[in-house]
Amino acid sequence: MSPLDSRPTPEEFNIPVVGRIYLNGEMVDPREARVSVFDRGFVFGDGIYEVIPAFGGRAFRVSQHLDRLAASLAAVDLADPLTRVEWTGAFDRLLAQEHGVDQYIYLQVTRGVAPRDHSYPVNARPTVVAYAQRLVSVPDSVLEDGVDAVTADDIRWSRCDIKTVSLLANVVLRQYANERGAVEAILLRDGHVTEGAASNIFIVNEGVLLTPPKGRHILPGITRDLVLELAARHGLPHAEAQITDAALRGADEVWMTSSTKEIVPIRRVDGLRVGGGKARPVFARMLELYRRYKEDCRAGRAG
Ligand code: PMP
Repeated sequence: MSPLDSRPTPEEFNIPVVGRIYLNGEMVDPREARVSVFDRGFVFGDGIYEVIPAFGGRAFRVSQHLDRLAASLAAVDLADPLTRVEWTGAFDRLLAQEHGVDQYIYLQVTRGVAPRDHSYPVNARPTVVAYAQRLVSVPDSVLEDGVDAVTADDIRWSRCDIKTVSLLANVVLRQYANERGAVEAILLRDGHVTEGAASNIFIVNEGVLLTPPKGRHILPGITRDLVLELAARHGLPHAEAQITDAALRGADEVWMTSSTKEIVPIRRVDGLRVGGGKARPVFARMLELYRRYKEDCRAGRAG
């Protein structure tokens, strides 16, 4: 194919997007959705993103996701290109394209097209992309068995609270884990757990659920916050506290959380069985609470 050929590539036909894509205010065929090679998202990774699950056609924890989006945009001096009503309107249009299946919305805002210069451009218009994909839930067998993780040095920058599309370090760390037969890398900074390459981390120690406190070294996960909220509401002992490397290795349970995978137990860390391979009573309880909350959302009884 000539490099000037703008027909869709075979790869574009294989991307499992639901229906049309929202691109700068219009709903376009995914095979026709085009962004400039001069876009700063492509050139510098200069952009912000969100991933929002949706159950029963309803975006899950949407106000929390939009709050985090606003915080990330503000942190890099990007004006939010859409109002909340416009965002939720775009989500509704995307989700309405397919009924009866769980989906998630991926959205991205970049600083737009400008001549290549690190300094912020004066007049660039942000590029806004959002699309829906089917959400495949983690199989029960995986929730039963757990997954493997390895530890790795947290080599990322010092603003991991910003949900930026500049994810090269996360990509390299996830690949490092995969090449060691693990699904996630648990990141350590100065001897403490920060988070996973694409998840937050919880441990259970003597019946207490622990996760690292918010700050510039972790993403304030929406699933993390919901797990803490459910723990508080249902009287499960919990705390936000630093987790040392030793505490991780001595934990009775280790979990990872994220919007698309929800809560997944970790079976082995660096090849060693978590909690000696015993049952995970706190995980079982939290999974039940999380599922109940999700069903309330699906039925319109929770946000
Ligand atoms: N940390 C990182 C680095 C992530 O990429 C993610 C999301 N994939 C999370 C935590 C979990 O955040 P959330 O629960 O909002 O999906």
